[in-house]
Amino acid sequence: MQAHETHAGSGEPLIDVQTGEDYPDVREAVRRVCADFPQEYWREKDAAQAYPTEFIDALTRAGFLAALIPEQYGGTGLPLRAAAVILEEVCAAGCHAAAGHAQMYTMGTLLRHGSDAQKEKYLPQIAAGKLRLQAFGVTEPTTGSDTTQLKTRAIKTASGYKLKGQKIFTSRAQHSDLMLVLARTTAPEEVKSRSHGISTFLIDIRESLGKGLEIRPLEMMVNHHTTEVFFDDLDIAADSLIGEEGKVFRYILDGMNAERVLTAAEAIGSTRWFTRTSVAYAKDRRVFDRPIGQNQSIQFPIAQAHIQMEAADMMVRRAAAMFHAGVPCGAEANMARYLAAEALWNAAEACMQTHGGMGYAREFDVERHWREARLARIAPVSTNLILAYVGQHVLGLPRSY
Ligand SMILES: Cc1cc2nc3c(=O)[nH]c(=O)nc-3n(C[C@H](O)[C@H](O)[C@H](O)COP(=O)(O)OP(=O)(O)OC[C@H]3O[C@@H](n4cnc5c(N)ncnc54)[C@H](O)[C@@H]3O)c2cc1C
Repeated sequence: MQAHETHAGSGEPLIDVQTGEDYPDVREAVRRVCADFPQEYWREKDAAQAYPTEFIDALTRAGFLAALIPEQYGGTGLPLRAAAVILEEVCAAGCHAAAGHAQMYTMGTLLRHGSDAQKEKYLPQIAAGKLRLQAFGVTEPTTGSDTTQLKTRAIKTASGYKLKGQKIFTSRAQHSDLMLVLARTTAPEEVKSRSHGISTFLIDIRESLGKGLEIRPLEMMVNHHTTEVFFDDLDIAADSLIGEEGKVFRYILDGMNAERVLTAAEAIGSTRWFTRTSVAYAKDRRVFDRPIGQNQSIQFPIAQAHIQMEAADMMVRRAAAMFHAGVPCGAEANMARYLAAEALWNAAEACMQTHGGMGYAREFDVERHWREARLARIAPVSTNLILAYVGQHVLGLPRSY
């Protein structure tokens, strides 16, 4: 998956995209780990709104969550596509990748833009499973999708910064040791452009709790361990800053592309779970003296979602290959994410309809996966914002917001 040559005359890099079941050994290894975590395990975690610690520990022990960390820091140094394959297989097995996925893409900001000292300090410990970096505080109650208007402030002090403000929907903050936080280092009225003045900080949750950091769980429709985070004059050291002040968008843009690719791969895996579950039930369930899967109203939506999933998969592979080759891939990563979110929701709907009343029975697991599937259209980025991106940046239409 590398750009070796260029297209004759155009100067554009040639990028190979593999079809079929790539990384078969990785896939097989993930399936083996997931086999120990059947649907009953996830049903119980969901009912108790509990964190799947055993599952995350198993993924960590197998080295999967350190797939993107270079070997020099104790990881396996695999390309983004391999990480996408890991998350896809986790979801295809019916397990919950979101409980640990942020470690992969949040860590990328530290890896690509952290200082050598920051990388030495954290990456080996993250790779060894001694530290969790699974929380990423971006969203705020009053600014929502408009990240350029973040209000959380980081005010310079003699020894570092004071953080003041609030985040909402920060997932896994109570199950993570570290958190990446976006905060404003320049007041909005002083910035040169909308995308300036916000900085990235890596904070130690363990050291900060009770000293200006408060985390409150939120009751949500899905078991995502989502919280509100309050910074009340939290003192953080100067070396919590990642990269230079004010350049957050330069630092997180490639991370966002990685996030889009990885979460799209998860959606593809979940689509595979729904489709497999739908097909099995549609073949087995007999009504009016024939399998319900013989009815086109049952069969066609399942087939449609499968076709959409295959298209999304090709776009994920393309975006991942471009990311790996260091070629700008914002459009491809966004389109992959959009296609995968739509395929997933259509597959979820088809599965719910296929199961009839049993779709609502907890023991069939369809309703839980269906609740979780809906999130792909909203977080980490809403499909509306992807359409706005494609309209403006790919098609050259006027900015809509
Ligand atoms: C379970 C869960 C987990 C989450 N985890 C995290 C996390 O770990 N860290 C984090 O920082 N955030 C997290 N989020 C927040 C998530 O990223 C946001 O909910 C999402 O980005 C949308 O922002 P919002 O909720 O503020 O919606 P809003 O920005 O208020 O938008 C509401 C609706 O209006 C639409 N809209 C707004 N502006 C436009 C426009 N210009 N054009 C078209 N449509 C528009 C949006 O697309 C959306 O459909 C999580 C959310 C959920 C539900």
